Amino acid sequence: MIFSEDEVERYARHLVLSEVGGPGQQALKRARVLIVGVGGVGTPAALYLAAAGVGTLGLIDDDVVGLSNLQRQIAFSTAEVGRPKVAAAADRLTGLNPHVVVETHAERLTEDNAARRVGAYDVVLDGTDDFQTRLWVNAACVATGRPLVSGALGRWSGQVGVFTGRPCYRCLVPEIPPDAETCARVGVVGALAGVIGAMATLETIKLIAGAGDPLSGRLLLYDGLAGAARTVRVAADPTCPVCGG
Ligand SMILES: [Zn+2]
Repeated sequence: MIFSEDEVERYARHLVLSEVGGPGQQALKRARVLIVGVGGVGTPAALYLAAAGVGTLGLIDDDVVGLSNLQRQIAFSTAEVGRPKVAAAADRLTGLNPHVVVETHAERLTEDNAARRVGAYDVVLDGTDDFQTRLWVNAACVATGRPLVSGALGRWSGQVGVFTGRPCYRCLVPEIPPDAETCARVGVVGALAGVIGAMATLETIKLIAGAGDPLSGRLLLYDGLAGAARTVRVAADPTCPVCGG
């Protein structure tokens, strides 16, 4: 795969990085990444993945841009309120980097379509705020052998994890919490979406380029109010119905 002059200049800061370089940038160009949920985590992730030169980005979300999204979902403009998110994001991403192919899926990810959608991509970045969807995405990733990068946030804190088989996300969340908090109810500081979305993107780029130590089987917990982060190991659940046995 030969890069055009435009691409060599565009990706110059990656090409001089020893952990990316030519081979890493080529891997990024060959890669197909699915972003589940074009929201607080998904929009900054989509912007940075497109800027990084990921060859194909899949976006799956059935929502339209809402005015209250703009406090943190900075890929969208005020004029786009009411527009399907995947369409608005696709325009923004191809405007940022015309070398990226954007595939839009204006639908919800469900138990029925999860394996088909996930299986069409190399890596999945999940930024949905709904536990049921997260568990479906996880099951599809384990079944199809796709690495899952997961980002979540609320109020002032967030977490990023990478799951490459065992332990899986279900080991971390064996059951849907009955009183799960949503950002709509408890609030979220807008800049946190940028922090967590960019951290999830960084892990995705590391996986694709083979750089550094991915957060596999670990969870990075970021406390924005304290200005502190720590990393914990995720234990594999021996009784996990998705990755166990
Ligand atoms: Zn598991």
